[in-house]
Amino acid sequence: MFILSEDSQRTQGRDAQSSNIMAGKAVAESVRTTLGPRGMDKMLVDSGGEVVITNDGATILNEMDIEHPAAQMIVEVAESQEEEVGDGTTTAGVVAGNLLGEAEDLIEQDVHATTIVEGYHEAAQIALEAIDEQVQEAEVDDEILKQVAESSMTGKGTGGLTAESLAETVVEAVRHVDSEDGVARDNVAVHTQIGASSNATELVPGIVLDEEPAHDEMPSEVENASIAVLDVELEVQTGEIDAEYAIDSIDQLNAAIDAEEGELQGYAETIAESGADVVFTTDGVDDRVSSALASEGVLLFDDLTSSDAKDVVSATGARRVGALDDLEESDFGEADLIRTENFGDDDLAFIEGGAAAEAVTVFVRGGTEHVVDELERAIGDALDVVATALESGEVVPGAGATEIAIADKVRQEAAGIEGRKQLAVTAFADALDIVPRTLAANTGQDPIDALVDLRAAHESEGRAGLITDGEEVTIDDPFEYGVVDPADVKREAVESATEAATMIVRIDDVIAAE
Ligand code: ADP
Ligand code: MG
Repeated sequence: MFILSEDSQRTQGRDAQSSNIMAGKAVAESVRTTLGPRGMDKMLVDSGGEVVITNDGATILNEMDIEHPAAQMIVEVAESQEEEVGDGTTTAGVVAGNLLGEAEDLIEQDVHATTIVEGYHEAAQIALEAIDEQVQEAEVDDEILKQVAESSMTGKGTGGLTAESLAETVVEAVRHVDSEDGVARDNVAVHTQIGASSNATELVPGIVLDEEPAHDEMPSEVENASIAVLDVELEVQTGEIDAEYAIDSIDQLNAAIDAEEGELQGYAETIAESGADVVFTTDGVDDRVSSALASEGVLLFDDLTSSDAKDVVSATGARRVGALDDLEESDFGEADLIRTENFGDDDLAFIEGGAAAEAVTVFVRGGTEHVVDELERAIGDALDVVATALESGEVVPGAGATEIAIADKVRQEAAGIEGRKQLAVTAFADALDIVPRTLAANTGQDPIDALVDLRAAHESEGRAGLITDGEEVTIDDPFEYGVVDPADVKREAVESATEAATMIVRIDDVIAAE
């Protein structure tokens, strides 16, 4: 009896398991070489020839056109890691892949999938306890936050800029949006602009918009600005009904032109008299209005996108006005400084020190599109980890030290676990070794030797990572070198990798419609 259509494909049992596991492993493998401070970059070219150069796990997996459903689940690990904590995407993907590899061996030894799943879940609980034990006791201050930022950016394409100087900018940005209610991460924007070296990257105390003044003669800078935000068209009104004028004398023509001029002049006067010195409108503006406002010293931006208008409102405290007649001083927003600057093909408007503003913008500069894009991703990760570390107040040693500690604790506890489940718990510990091993491999070290040395150092010192310090690679206490990661990044990596791996292992039947 056939219950499936003839076109559907079905794989069952071991075949299904091993094909899923292979696909998942392959995806994880693809990002392995990018892990850590000496990780390499990947160049991804899409079918349209668009090029992305990156070291970021989530970006790589996102850009790859992955079709296999099990492989797709590893991509989701990276995605959820990115969403929840903003960093550790490569780590989570690589650990998930290795959990699958270990599971494959167990299946070959006839350990049932359910036993593996149970063992992995139990091991993950032990891992979380191990992470708690690794949390640094010192309070998370600016110094530690800078270390967190720097650790997340080391080895990323930060152009000519050192991770150290960027880290300072990142911490300053996050501190700015930190209050009793927590860290308002959304209030930190990142705006990229090519054309200068990455050294010119700076923190703008406000927002940056892709907008240019409506007229060349307008001031490029207004201090202590009174800001009006309009949804008003400042052009000749054509009227609701189509009207056609029959003009048959020069006098009539002149009268019509005068009427138009008068209407436009009226707009300019109303605005100038309102006392606003900077005006944003979401609609069009006639050149004659712009020119008249320019001679009054008013700075005007027209055809504003709706999202930019919203940003101006929340930065300056202005109220949007839908009709010129309604414009009142009480609708105005305030800012310390509004300035415009031309960058080759682009014009930008900076709104600094707005009355209602909590927002800050990391204004990222770089020589080319690829440089600023990768810098933007690195800064995005750094902002996320600093916000995460500040909110939870917990950091753990990086450079593989936390993974070594987790594996050690899991192995110890495994001894007390009965039956075949013990094998699965031990396998979980073995899978976590992939992080220090990969860090070693990516720095040109022998992974096995490094692992043995790390375990020995962990045993005697209680904390040992494989630290890259300039050209040197040493086994030492990562806290001494300021190599730290937020505890939540490690927790999330353990949880999301375990979840994906156990989900894939449990599948023994794949039914695919053609
Ligand atoms: P992920 O996508 O997982 O964040 P990264 O390429 O950013 O991958 O690498 C993160 C790993 O690099 C973390 O384990 C972190 O502790 C480690 N790391 C950061 N700085 C150093 C350093 N100076 N020496 C050794 N390891 C480091
Ligand atoms: Mg990272």
